[in-house]
Amino acid sequence: MAGRKGRRWLLTPLPLQGHINPMLELAQILYSEGFSITIIHTTFNSPHPSNYPHFTFSCIQHGVSQTQSSDLLNFLLQLNVKCVEPFKDCVTKLLRSDEAAVEPVACLISDAMCYFTQAVADNLHLPRIVLRTAAISSYVAFLAYPLFRQRGYIPTQDCILEEEVKELAPLRVKDLPLIKTEEPEKYYELLRNFLKETKASLGVIWNSFEGLESPALRKLSKEFSIPMFPIGPFHKHLSSSSSSSSLISQDQSCIAWLDTHPPNSVVYVSFGSLAAITETEFVELAWGLANSRHPFLWVVRPGLIKGSEWVEALPSGFLENLEGRGAIVKWAPQQEVLAHSAVGAFWTHCGWNSTLESICEGVPMICMPIFTDQKVNARYVSHVWRVGLQLEKRVEREEIQRIITTLMDVNGEAKEIRDRALKLKEEAELCLRQGGSSRSSLQALVTYILSFDSFTSQPSSLYIPFRFARKAIDDW
Ligand code: UDP
Repeated sequence: MAGRKGRRWLLTPLPLQGHINPMLELAQILYSEGFSITIIHTTFNSPHPSNYPHFTFSCIQHGVSQTQSSDLLNFLLQLNVKCVEPFKDCVTKLLRSDEAAVEPVACLISDAMCYFTQAVADNLHLPRIVLRTAAISSYVAFLAYPLFRQRGYIPTQDCILEEEVKELAPLRVKDLPLIKTEEPEKYYELLRNFLKETKASLGVIWNSFEGLESPALRKLSKEFSIPMFPIGPFHKHLSSSSSSSSLISQDQSCIAWLDTHPPNSVVYVSFGSLAAITETEFVELAWGLANSRHPFLWVVRPGLIKGSEWVEALPSGFLENLEGRGAIVKWAPQQEVLAHSAVGAFWTHCGWNSTLESICEGVPMICMPIFTDQKVNARYVSHVWRVGLQLEKRVEREEIQRIITTLMDVNGEAKEIRDRALKLKEEAELCLRQGGSSRSSLQALVTYILSFDSFTSQPSSLYIPFRFARKAIDDW
């Protein structure tokens, strides 16, 4: 661990599992680099401070309730309005605290989706860098939203779904990060704000690595005048998994269950923390998995199946009849599961964390994206990195069985996919070694932040004048 640098970083995650995990991983990376960490979080989905005794935590009350996360669009829009004042009060107090006089605040790192933080940071003359927790390639697709609007892609007509969008090849209309909504203008408003305030920040940190996404990185670097720091995969910088930032308790018993299986024999199935499927899709998946005859470990999160509490839609005796070939848990220690030698394939919704975690372990994927950037990720997994297959048809048992059988084969297409997945895993390891791209990018980030200080005339550097931060960028 580097010596303490006498600087504090304020970190603000978006309060959703897939955003909290990478932000807290980033916090641990920066702590290891010698910085002190304060996490500013909401009352909703707040992390567990006791799991991070070396960080300080500040909670803001914002009045956006839990139920609203099921309507993601309105949840995000509301959060970006209701958090402004409590966030500003909180940061002002932190900047004026006695601790800040001893250990100045160097910078705010905000989730890019918390775009409201830019105006607050400007107002308080605090440098703001954003963390974008999704893929760089999907960000390039989001940037093209004026095109979606101009072509009227929301609501999406079935007849154009298969059309290629040549500006974003190899994406087709159905791979675009669109959502089903009756209010497309609200969606465009969200994207406009999120993209504008990312551009207004002093830099973007990515949980990705150069070798994986260099074309997208080059494209963005041309459009943005701010530096990009692809320092991922975050969790691989750390010695322990991200279980401490899990909002749901992870069922460790599945590791013992995996221990009883031979290498590459198990299909791991999980759709992350937000996606929901219908009861019919759930039952079809269950039969498809059972009929494939491969053992499976399935995360059925309460709330995954629309209209059901948990697994009551399963035919009675379903698991018992499989005689130990299937296990269902409510939430798993996913990083450990994917790193387990028994896991041979990951049936995933292609959330970015899941995709990257799978890439890091060389586990081939079966992609079943549900919404927004998951669809871009799925297309990249199957057609750019070619480390998985995408379920293109409806969720029906015959198709599920077919695709599992294809990917779990020891020869043919499956072997080629596995070989590519193992090569990508190696690249993910290399970028974190000394001199590797992500390690170098992390060092560049640290130097960049510390350079803000040298431009301030204030001895305690409590407030770093914005123009000095801007100068740091110009010199960069
Ligand atoms: N995860 C987990 N246990 C599970 C399923 C998921 O710990 O049973 C973690 C997973 O490792 C990942 C995060 O939850 O870090 C999900 O993020 P992702 O971006 O894949 O999907 P989202 O939940 O945002 O849709």
